Amino acid sequence: MNNTVHRYEPPANEPICMYTPDSAETASLKSTLSTMAAETIEIPCIVGGKEIHTGKTHECTSPHDHQRVLGHWHAATPEVVQQAIDSSQEAWKQWSETPYATRMAIFTKAAELLAGPWRDRINASTMLGQSKTCFQAEIDAACELIDFFRFNAYFALNNVYNDQPFSAPGMWNTVDHRPLEGFVFALTPFNFTSIAGNLSAAPALMGNVALWKPSSTAVLSNYYLMKLMEEAGLPPGVINFLPGSGREITSTVLESPHFAGLHFTGSTAVFQGLWQQIAEGLPRFRSYPRIVGETGGKDFIFAHESADMAALATATVRGAFEYQGQKCSAASRLYIPRKMWPTFRDEVAAQIGTIKMGDPSDFSNFMCAVIDEKAYNKITGYIENARSSSDAEIIAGGEASRETGWFIQPTFIECKTPNFPTMCEEIFGPVVSAYVYDEDDLEGAIDLCDNGSPYALTGAVFSQDRYMADHISKRLRHAAGNFYINDKPTGAVVGQQPFGGARASGTDDKAGSALNLMRWVAQRTIKETFNPPIDYRYPHMG
Ligand code: NAD
Repeated sequence: MNNTVHRYEPPANEPICMYTPDSAETASLKSTLSTMAAETIEIPCIVGGKEIHTGKTHECTSPHDHQRVLGHWHAATPEVVQQAIDSSQEAWKQWSETPYATRMAIFTKAAELLAGPWRDRINASTMLGQSKTCFQAEIDAACELIDFFRFNAYFALNNVYNDQPFSAPGMWNTVDHRPLEGFVFALTPFNFTSIAGNLSAAPALMGNVALWKPSSTAVLSNYYLMKLMEEAGLPPGVINFLPGSGREITSTVLESPHFAGLHFTGSTAVFQGLWQQIAEGLPRFRSYPRIVGETGGKDFIFAHESADMAALATATVRGAFEYQGQKCSAASRLYIPRKMWPTFRDEVAAQIGTIKMGDPSDFSNFMCAVIDEKAYNKITGYIENARSSSDAEIIAGGEASRETGWFIQPTFIECKTPNFPTMCEEIFGPVVSAYVYDEDDLEGAIDLCDNGSPYALTGAVFSQDRYMADHISKRLRHAAGNFYINDKPTGAVVGQQPFGGARASGTDDKAGSALNLMRWVAQRTIKETFNPPIDYRYPHMG
């Protein structure tokens, strides 16, 4: 199946549209935005290529304008989930035998559609449904997903299928990289449209079939992605789209002996619960399921006293507040040397004072709203706790408004103790906390950073002293799966900074890399002997 030799050149990263005022791409995106903002669409489940309207509907609203209903999505019932399992198993028969070149062609076409005719629609639905600025939508929903599609195809061929064993004279050894027997369950988060697409598309590229449960707060863009993949030629049943309750859908999924893998991105607590549920179901499953999960973070910036102040302040503002801090990689705890603190504090506070926040259709905004009421209540709860504590001081921001949308000001907190909750727990909002350390105890401050939270996703060191940058990088070796020197800890690019974390942040199977793709194949080794022996006796027997 996979033995045909193909040549496939390394892809380039998709260029980012900058949406400058008065440009043609800005006019085009704005026009799509206003058309889509005026629509209210029906979003069905898609099973075996058929749309199913279950009648159990929920609203898709805009976080920045929560009275605006963009669509009604139909939640999957247990019967529909079972139909999806059956249809995936039917599709598996042909898809698992489909040559790599055909699978690659479908996802490469998906990349072309997204780069061209679908770009505005996917970006606009991400802006409207998940409250991203045009730039944040572009780097996620368009560029990162295009890169996932193209780079995965390249890595699959060059790093997985072409990884073949040596053959001694007289024999021929091959490894058949088979898809898993059964289906992969892709359970996806709200905050990146690209991740939502990739969690089902990456296993499907490797010949697997999938059930895709999108986040209830990202159904709009995710539905359009599903339609895009269908237009790209994805056969019915290969990916089945099942909006609905994560808990309910999971319980039907894990009843099935065909459950072969979980591809998850989301919060740590949910992932840990899923792993435990899977362990309990082991006797039912035909194979040991593959479990791949990228989860929460408490990402840090550690400043050495030699840090460049302007670069540090800009990295803090961009790293902490872009997409309202709702990136798993968002900078949320800072360790600042005492002698830098007064200038740094005033500089960051001044920059925060200039940030514009509002509706993403106004392209001059830097921030929009947080995703929903639950997130709003959680984040403002952390801010109120800081306001009332003598261990913390709100330096900038701290206000919020729920009137039109779920808006929370970019908030900068100084924590007097390194273990204050906002320094340790994932808040997932526009809140950054700083702990000021004594530069005479650098090693103690590094220890605080290393042990300050259970997570290890991203982190950055700022230092113009290169020996110190090296030293701090070595001391924090296990504190982050993606580590930055003199750069913000967000914005990993597919093919350039493979992304994922360890400790409580996930299984570190680097999305958009060969490592991730390898989790979706099971190797069969085949040895063929050209001249088999015809005498059982060995030479030493005389
Ligand atoms: P979430 O854990 O609330 O939801 C993720 C998915 O799981 C959703 O589809 C949701 O419906 C489903 N779900 C929720 N509870 C469930 C349950 N009990 N059983 C089964 N399914 C359930 O996460 P979110 O709010 O969508 O995303 C934010 C989280 O994702 C943050 O913690 C963030 O750090 C993390 N994240 C991590 C990465 C990474 O690469 N490490 C990337 C993006 C987001």
